[in-house]
Amino acid sequence: MTERESRRILVTAALPYANGPVHIGHLAGAYLPADLYCRYQRLQGRDVAFICGSDEMGVAIMVRARTEGITPQELVDRYHPMIRDAFKGFGMSFDWYGRTTSPVHAETSRDFFRVLAAKGAFTTRTEQQLFDPAAGIFLADRFVKGTCPSCGNPDAYGDQCEKCGTSLSPLELVDPRSTLTDAKPELRESTHWYLPLGASQARLEEWIGTHPEWKSNVLGQVRSWLADGLRDRAITRDVPWGVPVPEDVAAAAGVDAAGKVIYVWFDAPIGYISATREWTAAHGAPDGWKDWWQSPDSRLFHFIGKDNIVFHCLMFPAMLMAHGDYVLPENVPANEFLNIEGRKLSTSRGWAVWLHEYLAEFEPDLLRYALATTLPETKDADFSWSDFQLRANSELADVLGNFVHRTLTFAGRFADGVVPPLVDPSDADRAVLDELATFPSRIGEAYEGFRFREGVFETMALARLGNKYFNDTEPWHTRKTDPQACANTIHVSLQLCASLAVLLEPVLPFTAAAIRRMLRLEGVATSAPADGEFADAVPSSATVAGGRIRWADAGAPLLAPGHAIGLAEVLFRKIEDEAIAAQLAKLQGPAAEAAPEPSLPYAPAKGHVTYDDFAKLDFRAGTVVAAEAMPKSKKLVKLRVDLGYEERQILAGVAEHFKPEDLVGKRVTVVANLAPRLMMGLESQGMLLMAENRDGSLHPVSSTGENGSVVR
Ligand SMILES: [Zn+2]
Repeated sequence: MTERESRRILVTAALPYANGPVHIGHLAGAYLPADLYCRYQRLQGRDVAFICGSDEMGVAIMVRARTEGITPQELVDRYHPMIRDAFKGFGMSFDWYGRTTSPVHAETSRDFFRVLAAKGAFTTRTEQQLFDPAAGIFLADRFVKGTCPSCGNPDAYGDQCEKCGTSLSPLELVDPRSTLTDAKPELRESTHWYLPLGASQARLEEWIGTHPEWKSNVLGQVRSWLADGLRDRAITRDVPWGVPVPEDVAAAAGVDAAGKVIYVWFDAPIGYISATREWTAAHGAPDGWKDWWQSPDSRLFHFIGKDNIVFHCLMFPAMLMAHGDYVLPENVPANEFLNIEGRKLSTSRGWAVWLHEYLAEFEPDLLRYALATTLPETKDADFSWSDFQLRANSELADVLGNFVHRTLTFAGRFADGVVPPLVDPSDADRAVLDELATFPSRIGEAYEGFRFREGVFETMALARLGNKYFNDTEPWHTRKTDPQACANTIHVSLQLCASLAVLLEPVLPFTAAAIRRMLRLEGVATSAPADGEFADAVPSSATVAGGRIRWADAGAPLLAPGHAIGLAEVLFRKIEDEAIAAQLAKLQGPAAEAAPEPSLPYAPAKGHVTYDDFAKLDFRAGTVVAAEAMPKSKKLVKLRVDLGYEERQILAGVAEHFKPEDLVGKRVTVVANLAPRLMMGLESQGMLLMAENRDGSLHPVSSTGENGSVVR
């Protein structure tokens, strides 16, 4: 182990804002990559602290609470446990999950503010602001309405006119009034603290220059902010919800601190520090947090989405530099955005997949895998339910699940459920064991470089290798012709399963635990803290804390000959079309009621096929002569289609688009030589061609040719 590797690894994941639940865009942006990284590093035996928590301050939470007629505290008390429970169900391996309404957070933020004020890191400014004399508070952006000076809209907000889109400040509104009391606001003076970021620009530029290895999407955004020049940024506000400005600092500046709070962008990242303090204090080391935040032996990594880059690469580092006692982030591997079904994720339009709703219907590992293979690491990526189904069925069930199941079944039936010794291994046996030795470093290098998609792909390559080896060595033949060769295949395949039970742990922790249970493989180091935030839910904590088997050990055989294994269990059940259709319908329900997106993307063009490939398809004109709904199916309609020379039964997935009776008499085009397929117990003897609009609506391709005529 090099000196560098012996250092502590402090990982933060963006604090989710506690005014709503977590969706899959959040997971793909920050949480899943952070969890993959932490679990991998812990399996390497490294000292990791994985810190997160709910961001519970800020005007947006006040506004949301007001519209619901509850207090901000009641609002965050609803969402904090909801977010926390969803993370727990997803298998996040946090050491601590805090919240910014905690007393420790207020104390930590106020101490931080004090130190920076004492060092002269702030400036103050006195400005005219709108004040509601009836409510007795200053009116921040959304608490004041008035007439837009640009378009005359009488209901423009203090930050923006939603009719013409103009950005406004409250003072620009004509005839302003308070949204709290409808009172006519007065102008009053208020003094605020500012962080003059321009003064830190040279130091920030120099520091960023020492990190050419950062991701290009991150450096691109940082350089663009620096090129524009950093401006002073207010760090206090006059609102009744937030961490109060320290009274002593205010008094020293001759300012009344009453009603003044620290701006949420300033206190939120300090939430990482306060959560770490709570964590070490809970483990009997009230000053232990300093080993993570203030020691050169600690490396700090922020996992965030791209909307947070400027805060974590420039503003928080400027705060840490101004304080002087803290380490600076070593890397900020931010991800881009995740779209859903080709459209931009939008919570206000209902175009989102919520984690707590997902977990009510599917296993967490399926989503972990589907997202890990499509992470928006360098550019925006797309999640689709059909891709989710394909990954679950064709990769997890057919490759991984199949390999583990056939290996354990064979070992149970033909090796009495014990690991047979490897005797006179063949070239094929040796080649696979040699290749196995390369996997821990291959996967590990990808994880170290924040290339998580690649790491997960390499992990599944081991299961693919196992299946290929099993097929090539044909143990179902050799068990009759060469029992030792068969035993060797079982031995090697079991070793591959055992290695998978370690190497899969970052991406599929629940599945890896199940494989270990089937193999009765014990002593694997834990990838989640046994005393962590979700110790009761994280399966790997069932393995031994301080276990002897670590990441690098998974390159060599882990099971001794004679070791008794358990019984094969089914790891993954196939996801049916119906389940996917239900998810699409759920997604489209609320989105259909919302305003349409201004412009939807067209499906990308497919690659070329040869004329010979095209000519294999037999298209025929036909007429629908009967149609009925399929019982128990939301998606399928059973059709009889007249093709002139014969009638066909065709099951079409169009029930969400057409009433059966509306299809009768429709002229259609049929793919007539598609192999018949069983769907819900009935045979479908062909497929209708439909044009699918960008909004998802379907339109039959029709012909005026006679029934049965060839379409080409
Ligand atoms: Zn306007």
